[in-house]
Amino acid sequence: MAEILPGIHQVEGVDPSPDFFTHVYLVKDKGSSWTLIDTGLPGTAPKIDTYLKKHGISPTSIRSIFLTHLHRDHTGSLRDMISRTKAKTYSHWIEAAFIAQDPPYDGPGTPPAEPVSVDEKFKDGDQFEAGGGIVAYHTPGHTPGHTSYYLPERKILFAGDLFFPGTGDTLSLTPKEYTQHVLTAQVSAKRVAGLNVVSLLPYHCGPYLRDGSAKVIELAKRLTT
Ligand SMILES: [Zn+2]
Repeated sequence: MAEILPGIHQVEGVDPSPDFFTHVYLVKDKGSSWTLIDTGLPGTAPKIDTYLKKHGISPTSIRSIFLTHLHRDHTGSLRDMISRTKAKTYSHWIEAAFIAQDPPYDGPGTPPAEPVSVDEKFKDGDQFEAGGGIVAYHTPGHTPGHTSYYLPERKILFAGDLFFPGTGDTLSLTPKEYTQHVLTAQVSAKRVAGLNVVSLLPYHCGPYLRDGSAKVIELAKRLTT
């Protein structure tokens, strides 16, 4: 889909099949550098590289890689992307332990094949200059350290696997067979419903460019009733 909003790309050519979306996002920083959000399954790095070349973006201009959580469809190409970009890596401190396989993750879903030591282990509410100003929102449930990334200036939320496609055009929580703790995921969804979100950019559905909050609030109401 390419540049979905000014300075925000949904990297094309990384879906493993036509039925399974994996939305790797590339976000312009305030200067000339870029931030990558999640890295796709193993084997995705060359596909990201192809996309970068097509758009005239040098791999080493990616200075930051933010991870929403440990699952392999998000971290599978992390090591490869680090070696191509030399970028600094970021995740919630709980998730960083599982990405490093210290300890190995025992929840549902597949952990990364190769352990990676994340550079910056943040906590809820930490803010970063990357991506034009990112705030980390710890949104556990799907995994213990799952994090959504909010750009307050532009009211954009990268929601990772907090949400999944629902029926019709609605949102759903990620199915319980992939979720570590369903009630916690519900609490996280309700928390995000309190944010002012214009553009909602989940990993496996959307992007919803104009009606982010309406979508999340509708789901939060269904979770309550
Ligand atoms: Zn996941």
